[in-house]
Amino acid sequence: MVNLKLLCWGTIAIAPVFTEAAAAATFDYGKTAAQETYYLSTELAGRSVGTAQEAATVQYLSDRLVALGYTPILQPFTYDFRGTPLTSYNVIAERQGTSNKHIILGAHYDTAPSSATLDRSALEGTNDNASGVGVLLELAERQALDPTVTSKFVFFGAEEIGLVGSEFYVNSLSEAEITNSLFMLNLDSLVFGDHMYFNAGRGATDNPDWFKYRDLALEIAAENGIDARTNPGLNEFYPAGTGCCSDLESFDFLMPVLAAEATNWSIGDLDGYTQTADPRVPNGFTWHDPATDNRAFINEIFPGLIEERTRNYTLVLDKLIGEVNASYVSVPEPMSTAALVLVAAGGGLMRRRRV
Ligand SMILES: [Zn+2]
Repeated sequence: MVNLKLLCWGTIAIAPVFTEAAAAATFDYGKTAAQETYYLSTELAGRSVGTAQEAATVQYLSDRLVALGYTPILQPFTYDFRGTPLTSYNVIAERQGTSNKHIILGAHYDTAPSSATLDRSALEGTNDNASGVGVLLELAERQALDPTVTSKFVFFGAEEIGLVGSEFYVNSLSEAEITNSLFMLNLDSLVFGDHMYFNAGRGATDNPDWFKYRDLALEIAAENGIDARTNPGLNEFYPAGTGCCSDLESFDFLMPVLAAEATNWSIGDLDGYTQTADPRVPNGFTWHDPATDNRAFINEIFPGLIEERTRNYTLVLDKLIGEVNASYVSVPEPMSTAALVLVAAGGGLMRRRRV
């Protein structure tokens, strides 16, 4: 549908052709997320910067978003990679809301590049980060039309070489856009690891109120019988309740961040890098390793984990987005008495707590 070869400089809008998305999604949580995780792993392995697979992934994401009823924008950015100038793209889609507030939902689609000693042209990146892309696509699919809060879905390019795409995206935001951002959601590596985590960005250590979206995610997880945790802060360089080492860092001190990631913050160097204590996993991690960050290895060691984690993250985050939207009640014209009551009751409230 969209020929990337025709792309030139500037930001390009791609018109939607048809719509698969329904206002009310009725399918099981995680169905699309797992399906997309598998698709990126099988058909778009080795999607690192500067490869044909990277371009094919941008094309694929654009096509999927168009199919879901969005009008995706490709945001190009250039950078130097090992002495070569390269161009990559952030793929951005928006569901316009009725308030001036928005949330930014992001996942990087690239995989780690090959090096002189390791060929990563077949790196599936099932965990890092087909899983985040899969969940983000399902959240986009589930997003109801005309929300109160605008949702900006951003599929970041060039994360693995230094958060290049997310940094470019942040620098493209105006002051007003930053001020009106309720929070940034980062989805990176959602499957592989002993536990599910929700963390805030480091800015929350200066602004404790910025932990509220992390708290809400943990609360929704608990209510739904999902074991989710937060970084216990056992390593002084990684403060309790905060995540790191992904695109969230580009947003850390600008706005509240909610970071989703599977790993184990209580083992190894206590830095979230060692994902599992399971002795069947060499060194306890799969990061950027073509031999382990793939469907076959994950399914052999932890059968069903891809489906379970993508489902659980999608469920919690979809409900969280729903609650955030419900807390920003749109005001009909003319304003009815009922709407006034709702606005008064809901104003500033993240959530009506159950008693
Ligand atoms: Zn990643």
